[in-house]
Amino acid sequence: MHQPVQMKYAPVKNYINGGFAESKGNRTLPVVSPIDGNPLSTVPMSLTADLDDAVAAAKKAFPAWSRTPIKERVQVFFRYKYLLEKNLEELAKLCSEENGKTYGEAVAEIEKSIELTEFACSLPQLVTGEVLEVSRGVECRTEHVALGVVASIVPFNFPSMVPNWTLPNAIALGNCLIMKPSEKVPLSTGRLAKLLKEAGLPDGVFNVIHGDVEIVNAICDHPGIEAVSFVGSTKVAKLVYQRATNNYKRCLALGGAKNHLLVLPDAIPGMTAQNVAASMSGCAGQRCMAASAMIGVGNIDSIIDKICEEARKIVPGENLGAVINKESQQRIERYITEAEQQGAVVLVDGRQAKVNGKENGTYVGPTVIDHVTPGMSVATEEIFGPVISIMRTNTVDEAIAIENANPYGNAASVFTQNGGMARYIIDRASAGMIGVNVGVPVPREPFSFGGWNESKFGVGDITGKSSIGFWTKLKKTTIKWNAEAGVNWMS
Ligand code: NAD
Repeated sequence: MHQPVQMKYAPVKNYINGGFAESKGNRTLPVVSPIDGNPLSTVPMSLTADLDDAVAAAKKAFPAWSRTPIKERVQVFFRYKYLLEKNLEELAKLCSEENGKTYGEAVAEIEKSIELTEFACSLPQLVTGEVLEVSRGVECRTEHVALGVVASIVPFNFPSMVPNWTLPNAIALGNCLIMKPSEKVPLSTGRLAKLLKEAGLPDGVFNVIHGDVEIVNAICDHPGIEAVSFVGSTKVAKLVYQRATNNYKRCLALGGAKNHLLVLPDAIPGMTAQNVAASMSGCAGQRCMAASAMIGVGNIDSIIDKICEEARKIVPGENLGAVINKESQQRIERYITEAEQQGAVVLVDGRQAKVNGKENGTYVGPTVIDHVTPGMSVATEEIFGPVISIMRTNTVDEAIAIENANPYGNAASVFTQNGGMARYIIDRASAGMIGVNVGVPVPREPFSFGGWNESKFGVGDITGKSSIGFWTKLKKTTIKWNAEAGVNWMS
């Protein structure tokens, strides 16, 4: 007889109308900690009927919430920010457990969630409309109006931060939101739902529906949902963008990445090596902003030596977390082996990484691969692991051509002390977020986050000021009160 598996947490539930709710379906998936392979919980694969309940609750909440003045709405987020701070340790622990990242990385993720919330608190200052007397006694004015019920579909790599890219802004701007977390990391979102309730968010304004492809498709098809934001791989971003826009919904879909670093011989060696090593290995390389391909222009051998030195200081289970599951671990190792077979040289090898006492954890050590050529799969495909693939060119223009030829366009960075050369590369790199001597060039609030090319489908960015355009529509009103204004050809 099988012993029932001991779960650390109770089964995950949906969150509808201010309370946790069982799914109407009976299919569940296990939730496992990548740190040690221990079972944490189960997550329901919801049905369209569950989504219908969430949309109905959100629709019911929308009139009162959207008519609440924004200065009142953001009070909820001042309190939510305080609650994120107060519960930081617990949130970070849960995030690390379900995702596999280190506790320190999880703390940084919650701190970023706090910054995102601070931005939402500033929205009343940013969404004032415009007014102009357009002819005598006649004024035109504009105001930002909430869309209605909106949805946000998120990936596994940031269980707290990516939900907080959309949640505070969409809701503070007057919308009611349905969040679809990744089935691999469903626990953190439930905790956020509780904090929002404690912060005083009215029931129905925020709802969580768990599931996989079936529920994502149902979100794209649901007639009660006005807009869909998506963050995940390019393959799925394309599917979601097509399906949602085919149903005449507003959609912003952020995809995968292959971020290039251009390292010039005059780069400061120590700083460059530290930045490159931290960028490729942070969150076990599972960041859409991670450095993945590096192009050395001219002779940068001594910088590569230093990068290897830095990489060797990064130890799985100590300052390097786990990758999300066995499938990912095997995929990453396959890429390394394939590169080696194609003639690349593995300078630091992260394959077969083991952590004592955590034999069922899924780890890949930091990996530096040199003499990669542009046609190899490690040069062109998103690996999503702690791996840097180094290519060499003689000129900056050749390096730019390699960067430009990659289909993605999330981030690119240049390492140099030459300002003119940095400007030359900034102007020519085909990516939405550029770094100069910065390994992870994430724009901080109020600047917005978003890539180009196959890293993003749709108009505008997902965070910061640019998100206002996505989560609202403009109402334009022309007003005349006094008869002396008369009648002219325009009004
Ligand atoms: P994913 O695309 O597999 O999953 C993302 C979401 O889509 C999840 O909620 C998942 O349940 C759902 N999903 C998965 N397959 C689906 C399908 N066939 N049809 C409909 N929905 C589906 O991504 P992931 O593995 O969770 O996350 C890693 C990816 O996300 C990487 O490619 C990474 O670069 C990307 N990412 C991008 C950004 C960005 O800002 N551009 C940020 C974070 C992560």
